[in-house]
Amino acid sequence: MNGECIAAISTAPAAGGVAIIRISGAEALPVAEKVFSPSGKTAVKKFKPRYMYSGNITAAGGITDFGLCVYFKAPHSFTGEDVVELHCHGGVELSRAVLRAVLAAGARPAKAGEFTMRAFVNGKISLSAAEGMADMINGQSSAEVRAGSLLYSGRLTKEAEEIQDKLTDVLAKIGADVDYPEEDIERSELSDIKQILLSLKERTDKLVAAYDGGKKIKNGVSVAICGKPNAGKSSLLNALLGYDKAIVSSSAGTTRDVVEGSMELGGVRFNLYDTAGIREDAGEIEKLGIKRARRALEAADVALIVYEGAYSGDEEELRKACPCPAIKVRNKRDISDRPDGNEDISVSALTGEGVEELKKLMQSAALPGGTSSDEAFLIEERHYKTLARVSESLGSAASAIGVFPTDIVSVDIKEAWDALGEITGATATEEIINTIFSKFCVGK
Ligand code: GDP
Repeated sequence: MNGECIAAISTAPAAGGVAIIRISGAEALPVAEKVFSPSGKTAVKKFKPRYMYSGNITAAGGITDFGLCVYFKAPHSFTGEDVVELHCHGGVELSRAVLRAVLAAGARPAKAGEFTMRAFVNGKISLSAAEGMADMINGQSSAEVRAGSLLYSGRLTKEAEEIQDKLTDVLAKIGADVDYPEEDIERSELSDIKQILLSLKERTDKLVAAYDGGKKIKNGVSVAICGKPNAGKSSLLNALLGYDKAIVSSSAGTTRDVVEGSMELGGVRFNLYDTAGIREDAGEIEKLGIKRARRALEAADVALIVYEGAYSGDEEELRKACPCPAIKVRNKRDISDRPDGNEDISVSALTGEGVEELKKLMQSAALPGGTSSDEAFLIEERHYKTLARVSESLGSAASAIGVFPTDIVSVDIKEAWDALGEITGATATEEIINTIFSKFCVGK
């Protein structure tokens, strides 16, 4: 399908070496030819696909740039349509002037994500692969970019399609029973089908479970640093981050707010929250901080319970209040190096001793399975929720088979099949598709 001609600047709006103006649609080449003229010995009558031509780019406002032009003939292009890219010098105003000339030549401005949406509509890319592309572009940690690239390479689409194919076989088997009810399916065959459904549910559940690590890859791991005033929480935050972010003071109760800082461990973003010391006799402002601290603790993936000297009932109470793994950190080991027997680790926020080991503990507490496996691509909440629905439908189909008529079972199986199609895009509604592509930037 070769749609209406659209154009946009595809490179970031900042001064750089090169800027790329992308044009897509049936008229892409005639539009580009009005703006670009190949020069010198390379002058050509007809553009050969996938060849770079150098020449003059006539931009708006009487500006001429010298740049490159490449033509991709449909369907062998990113969008599946005719595409032309103009490469001009990377000036913000210059690239805008080139775009203005392209628009004057007959293209219209592309909407956010419109090139990728056309790639999806033309079957060049699945929906989850397009989402992976967005994750790669927007990823803020190497694990997120990696997960995005696994999605982009079609890992999830492949999984979804394989499960769909198996469900199609099952539907064909039980469909025959619906069409010819007199030819009852044998009980042994029903039990085989049940086994198939259960194994597909198991396969789906594995993906669903991977989201536990996946959402941490996408959103970062939340670490709440808690403990009594003066235990050294702010100092530890600084030691972990490697710079002075929180205010450190020797009078108790100065960290009144939850101070945030981020760092990358093993490719994953860790967001640190320094919480106010939890004290009964706290003043008004401090109480506010304590409230925030409790909230940070509730939302935490890992808690660091920092103490100095001996681990007391207060720390134990805090640990019990944690809904997540807690690491007991005995601080100020430069003053006292004698273990109290309760700590998971001894550190000195002042000298940095033990801080690297603490980082390793934080990693294994937050992501026990690691993030480098080839299965680490389930990072999108949409995929997680859809797969949870697939699992539920497969579960009810498996328990209904042999108990209820097969046409009732097939309703559950079809629901699972359709939900899997929302991942690949085959059954995704216009609303889902529009929501996904509106998150892309213009030019993508
Ligand atoms: P918070 O109230 O828990 O945030 O504690 P701070 O980080 O503000 O530290 C309280 C005091 O303890 C400050 O004077 C710090 O310099 C000191 N302190 C923090 N960590 C260490 C440490 O590892 N060794 C020593 N000797 N002093 C520390």
